[in-house]
Formats: sequence, C-alpha cells, structure tokens
Amino acid sequence: MSLRILLVEDEPGLVLTLTDLLSADGYEVQSALNGRTGLERAQAERFDLIILDVMLPEKSGLEVCSELRQNGCDSLILMLTAKARLSDRVNGLKIGADDYLTKPFEPPELLARIQALLRRVRKGELAPVVRYSYGAVEIDFDKGEATKNGAPIVLAGKELELLRYLVTHRGKVVSRDELLEGVWKYQPGVSSRTVDVHVAWLRHKLEDSPQAPVNIQTVRGVGYRFVP
Ligand code: CA
Repeated sequence: MSLRILLVEDEPGLVLTLTDLLSADGYEVQSALNGRTGLERAQAERFDLIILDVMLPEKSGLEVCSELRQNGCDSLILMLTAKARLSDRVNGLKIGADDYLTKPFEPPELLARIQALLRRVRKGELAPVVRYSYGAVEIDFDKGEATKNGAPIVLAGKELELLRYLVTHRGKVVSRDELLEGVWKYQPGVSSRTVDVHVAWLRHKLEDSPQAPVNIQTVRGVGYRFVP
C-alpha cells in the first residue's frame, strides 16, 4: 500500500509540480489550497505525512500544525517555510512539526527530505517526547510528573519510560522484544512477562476502564500500540 501524503499549499503551480513528482515516486497525494481545508482534510482522513506551507490563506500552517497536534493527529508534518523567516522554523518545530524545508527548494530536495524523515521513523530515531497530553491525562516525561483530570498520578521509573516509548511511537505497533530492548535494555531477569505487567500497571493508572483499554491497546500476538 502506498504512503498517503496531504499537500497543503496555496501556489497552484507548486501543487501541480509536487503532486506529479510525489505520485511518480509512488506516493498517493491529495492536496488542499488553504489552511482551513487542509485542517479539515487532515482530520477527516489518515495521512502518513502532511506537507504544510506556513504562509497560507484562511489559516496559517503554524495554526494548522498546532491544532492538529492538539487534536491528537500523529501524522508526520513537514513544514515549508520562507528562507528569511527563521522564527517560522523554530515555532514550527516547537508546536509539533517533525521537520522543515525552506523555500525556494528544488523538487528533488523535497523527495530526499521525505525519504530521510520516513527512514528516521522506521528506525525509531524520533526524538523522545518531552511533554504530552491526551484526553484527561497530562505527562511531563522530563520532570517525571503526570496528572489525570488534574490529580497527580505516581508513575514508577520504568512505567514512565515504557509510556514514553509507546507515546513516542504512537499509532505504531511496538513488539515486546522492541520494548525489552528500548526500555529495559535487555536487563537480566527481565522477560516479556515484565512488559505485560508494566502495561497492566499503566492501564490501571491511566485508563478509565483498565479491562477495556482505549489508549494502550494490545495487538494480539505482536505487542502493544498507543493511540491518543
Ligand atoms: Ca504560501
């Protein structure tokens, strides 16, 4: 199945060029010509990657990015920023964009950037999440603090690390082996049973109904998946 890309860009010529280029490279491309439509489309359907111009009519790319992240959208976001505006880049990364490319660029540069981004995701080299919130839960991983409906929740060190790993890889299935390596670094005496027990503890503390978890899902025979 080909990867799905949403291109939010208001220059029709650039939309045509990039759509041709990305389609020829095997991606399925949809486009939106302003920020409002882009936001609507990104919320209505699932895209692997959103290419988001900053300067857009109706709603800026920064606003779109920020709203998508607040609403739990976990698509990769690549922002297109004007060279002169360093602040756009900095702000874009701060509000949850994964990467940026400055305009003007040669189309092959965009392809290379997309491939590098997808490679980082596949190799699990995404930067660990620092702060994250979903539903009634808020977590500050660096401070080790979590709340649910404003009330503090105590998470032990490994619980916090496990949650951080799952949240960093949100939307993706993570195997028990990967968790043993990524969270426990293959400590002796630790088995996949340890993973299951810690997942059960996290569910007990975070899920409204730990027996029917909504956010920390079991993927039968494989592992777990965090869904905000
Ligand atoms: Ca523009």
